[in-house]
Amino acid sequence: MVMTFYQRLVRHGWRSARTYALCNVINLWLRARNRWHWRHRVECPCCGWRGHDFLPVDCGKFMVLHGECPHCRGHERHRMLTLYLQRRDRDLIEGRRVVLHCAPERYVRDLLLRNPNLFIIGMDFEMYMAKRFPPPAIVADIQRLGIADNSIDLIFCLHVFEHVPDDRKGLAELARVLKPGGVAYVMVPFILELNATVEYGRPDPFMFDHLRAYSPKDFEPRLAPFSYEKITRHDFLTPEEIKRYRIPEKEVLFRCVKRPVG
Ligand SMILES: [Zn+2]
Repeated sequence: MVMTFYQRLVRHGWRSARTYALCNVINLWLRARNRWHWRHRVECPCCGWRGHDFLPVDCGKFMVLHGECPHCRGHERHRMLTLYLQRRDRDLIEGRRVVLHCAPERYVRDLLLRNPNLFIIGMDFEMYMAKRFPPPAIVADIQRLGIADNSIDLIFCLHVFEHVPDDRKGLAELARVLKPGGVAYVMVPFILELNATVEYGRPDPFMFDHLRAYSPKDFEPRLAPFSYEKITRHDFLTPEEIKRYRIPEKEVLFRCVKRPVG
C-alpha cells in the first residue's frame, strides 16, 4: 500500500496519491461498518447483498463514492441496468434470443444466464479478455464486427465506446448487426460538469485508458442509427429506491431500437 502510494505520487502527482490514500482509508472504514452496523441502508440488485454502504471507487484523478458492491464488485451502471431489465424488459431477457454482450461483465451476464434459452455471444477486443468468458466468445473490433447483418436480437454495450477510436462507426456497426426491432442497451461514463465531450487524442492510462470524456450534452447525436429512449433513474425508480440502490444522476441508459429500413 505504501509502495503504491509512492508510485502514484512519483508518476501522477500529489492529487492522485491523495485519492489513493483517501480511497483506501474510506474503504477500510466502510468495510468495518458493513460488518457491525445493524442498519442495512443499501442493497445490490445484482447479487442481493445488503449493508450499510457501497465502497468508493478509485478513478485515479478522483474518487466515486457509493460505487462498488463489496460482495459482487458491481458498479452503479450494473445496478441500474439490472433493475431496469427486471422491471421493464423482463420479457426480452426471458425469451429465446441471440445476445451480443460487448466486453461482458459478469454482473449482467449472471442475470442473462438465468435464462437457458438465450444464446449469448461474448465479444472483446482483447484475446486475453475474450478467453475469460464462457464460450462462445469472439475477439472483434466493434468498428468492424465480423457478424452478419440483422442477426442479433439483443446487444449489451456498457462503458465500451470511451475506448473506441471512432465511436460513431462502432454504434453504426451495432445497428447493422441488430435485427429490425432488436434492442441495444448502451451506457457510457458521463461527466456531468462537461459542456462538451473532451477527446484525449490517446488512451489516458490513468483514466482506465479512456480515449475521451463524454458530456451528456452532446452524446445523443451519436445514436442517430437508432430510435432510442433515454432512461434516467427517475423514470423507473422511486426516490427511496434511488437511495437504497445508490443510483447517481450520471447513470443514463439508452435503449436503442434499430430503425426499420426504408
Ligand atoms: Zn452486489
